[in-house]
Amino acid sequence: MDHFQYRNGELCAEDVPVRRIAKDVGTPFYCYSTATLRRHYEVFAAAFAGVPATVCYAVKANSNLAVIATLAQLGAGADVVSEGEMRRAIAAGVPPKKIVFSGVGKTRAEITAALDAGIGQFNVESDSELALIAEVAGTMGKRAPVAVRVNPNVDAGSHDKISTGRKHDKFGIAWPKARETYRAAAKLPSVEVVGVAVHIGSQITSVGPFTAAFKFIAGVVGDLRADGHTIRRIDLGGGLGIPYLDETPPSPEEYARAAIREVGHLGCELVLEPGRLLVGNAGILVTEVLHLKDAEGVRIVIVDAGMNDLVRPAMYGARHAIIPVAEAARDATREPADIVGPVCETTDRFAKEWPLAPVRTGDLLAMRSAGAYGSAMSSTYNTRPLVPEVMVNGGDFAVVRPRQSFASMLAGEAMAPWLTPATGLRSKAIR
Ligand SMILES: *Cc1c(COP(=O)(O)O)cnc(C)c1O
Repeated sequence: MDHFQYRNGELCAEDVPVRRIAKDVGTPFYCYSTATLRRHYEVFAAAFAGVPATVCYAVKANSNLAVIATLAQLGAGADVVSEGEMRRAIAAGVPPKKIVFSGVGKTRAEITAALDAGIGQFNVESDSELALIAEVAGTMGKRAPVAVRVNPNVDAGSHDKISTGRKHDKFGIAWPKARETYRAAAKLPSVEVVGVAVHIGSQITSVGPFTAAFKFIAGVVGDLRADGHTIRRIDLGGGLGIPYLDETPPSPEEYARAAIREVGHLGCELVLEPGRLLVGNAGILVTEVLHLKDAEGVRIVIVDAGMNDLVRPAMYGARHAIIPVAEAARDATREPADIVGPVCETTDRFAKEWPLAPVRTGDLLAMRSAGAYGSAMSSTYNTRPLVPEVMVNGGDFAVVRPRQSFASMLAGEAMAPWLTPATGLRSKAIR
């Protein structure tokens, strides 16, 4: 359920016609809906209302400050995977105690910054990382709260590139090997073991893999307690899928029922790390049709958004529904079209043989379900500026990230001292 609906033949974001935003900020741009973010957060949080649980929004799905702040004001904590994300979360108002730091490659500098900020939990992914956290915390005279991310050897059944819980994936520590990690952690005075963590992947559309992982983690908690460890928190990760086209992922209630059934009796606080579920369907990418062509019988629609703006189709073969901003007539013929971007790569294609009513140059299209892993994964490939992000709230909208200027793109680079800038190519000249 989202708040991007047609009204009188015009696609609206809540109460704002998308075309009005396009007039204001130009295309392409991302548009987010506050009401949709709120609804997704509230439905998810309500599913866990009966148990002690903290929802730590996985910031990597969409790290815009306004998105994080919207969720933080509803009570969300944050799951972060870098110092940059941690700084964003804190800047957006997430209390440091509600921040979980995940990821396999935390650096000394990141660990130092996180201890300085006083975050709630480090999810440890290797023995070497545990040693580094202990060393840094010891030097700082602090105690680092840690959970070990245990690899359950569960296949999430989603895309190979976004599965993380199989034994040869780079994530987590296998069981029972992690038992040794806990033994080592318990001996480290600068480390406080607070719990266990598991995360098996992303865009998971059936409850089975979750149930398997949760059952597994319940067994792990039992074994760790038998070893004498205090386990008061279970971090169940994220990964719940969303409908892009015809997927039918479990509902938050179904997901929560599985979690509570498998681990609810252990007397632990639960940490949930949804990313995509909260933001995916709360965002669209709006683009303009630039050119139409016929490639020997294939209808090609060239738009002004590219794979640098939304890389999911190119990277994961992901599919986004693409709809016209001006609603097509009910009886319009929807001929298959390849919808492509301007980037010089064959993979810069958003859809193949997508049924699309007739369009003309200058028409606006919206790619749905673009709120997660859209702008957060965007780049300036082909020296294309990062596109604006707009947040809608009822009848209001605000530009929460303006379009990057060419001047700022060039200003971020410098000539090597032995190079004389060619005349006319100084960034000043084209500012
Ligand atoms: C990416 C990630 C998440 C969020 O995954 P979604 O599929 O977006 O819900 C949660 N936890 C960890 C550790 C992650 O790496």
